[in-house]
Amino acid sequence: MSVVGCDVGNLSCFIAVARQGGIETVANEYSDRNTPSIVSLTSKEREIGSAAKSQIISNFKNTITNFKRLIGRPFNDPFVQNEIPNLPYKVVEMPSGGVGFQVMYGGEQTVFSVEQIYAMLLTKLKVIAETNLKKPVNDVVISVPSFYSDTERRALFAASKVAGLHCLRLFNDTTAVGLAYGIYKQDLPAPEEKPRNVIFVDVGHSAMQVSAVAFNKGKLKVLGVSFDPYLGGRNFDRKMAEHFAVDFKQRYKVDVTTNKRAGIRLLTECEKLKKTLSSNSGKMTLNIECFMEDKDVSGSMTRAMFEEICADLLERVDKPLKRLVEETKLKKEDIYSVEIVGGSTRIPAVKAIITQVFGMEPSTTMNADEAVARGCALQCA
Ligand code: ATP
Ligand code: MG
Repeated sequence: MSVVGCDVGNLSCFIAVARQGGIETVANEYSDRNTPSIVSLTSKEREIGSAAKSQIISNFKNTITNFKRLIGRPFNDPFVQNEIPNLPYKVVEMPSGGVGFQVMYGGEQTVFSVEQIYAMLLTKLKVIAETNLKKPVNDVVISVPSFYSDTERRALFAASKVAGLHCLRLFNDTTAVGLAYGIYKQDLPAPEEKPRNVIFVDVGHSAMQVSAVAFNKGKLKVLGVSFDPYLGGRNFDRKMAEHFAVDFKQRYKVDVTTNKRAGIRLLTECEKLKKTLSSNSGKMTLNIECFMEDKDVSGSMTRAMFEEICADLLERVDKPLKRLVEETKLKKEDIYSVEIVGGSTRIPAVKAIITQVFGMEPSTTMNADEAVARGCALQCA
């Protein structure tokens, strides 16, 4: 029986399998190990993952993204209500009081619950794993944010059942990363020796999570966790988009807030620009053809400008780090290393804050994208 580990992220998913030779992350039908967390309903079918990505703009009303953080929450939850203006599709209240999406599917107006959409994504991950392993997959370990509530966990269990999966366990992201770190380390202290303490920082698309883990040979103990459940890469994209919205209104007399399609295009380009600014500090440009009213628009930003525009977000980064230090009472000399994972730890300013708080350069030896999935697969190996 094969057991599979899935990291279901707010932006993308990774799947890892335990084979005799070790842990392997597997690729989807596009030979990509990254499967976007997107479900697109069309007039004929449902597209999921990489195939749905092309629909984000052209079919935005029926393409569900950013749903990981909506599962297991009531429709009237303030977080859900806050999210709705950022989502280009129609969010509705289910008879159960939960979150649903109203879409056009197969030519008819249809409502899907967030659990159903989540289940569609999990079904896709199951098929990808089965294609790779060339045998049926039923048992999975799925990662969840360490701050997920019981209701969020229960809703995810239910979704995995709908997908025909037997979820052996929901594994906290932070523990999964710890396991992925420790498993192949040959030089960990013996069980009776002083443990090796490692800090893990994961800044993803929708959230930031931090943990301190003590390692001995064959043993891992989570000393503490902390988080900012509402700080991730997407917040930076939105800040940049707000900046360009004002800029374009002045220079091109177009109001992007009145056009959802243009809004998604701007956000997509801001994410690209943000990534470019992680490896370049000079002035980088953003160009969008036929943005609104047949006008081509362009703008630019330097890394310094990015940091200024996102200052209030950057100010939040050190809070969970400092809380973890306070809670675990770890001193600099007690910490062996700080390991960073998650796409948004690639932002230089984020890295600088981590360096400053812990007094050491973070180490990037772990696979920032795949560590969580690998840890989940190890859990069941
Ligand atoms: P979450 O953990 O919140 O559920 P996720 O696991 O899907 O989300 P990740 O894949 O860890 O998220 O990270 C995705 C985020 O990282 C996106 O916001 C993306 O823009 C950002 N990112 C990826 N590469 C870079 C880069 N080079 N510079 C800045 N940001 C980056
Ligand atoms: Mg993640």
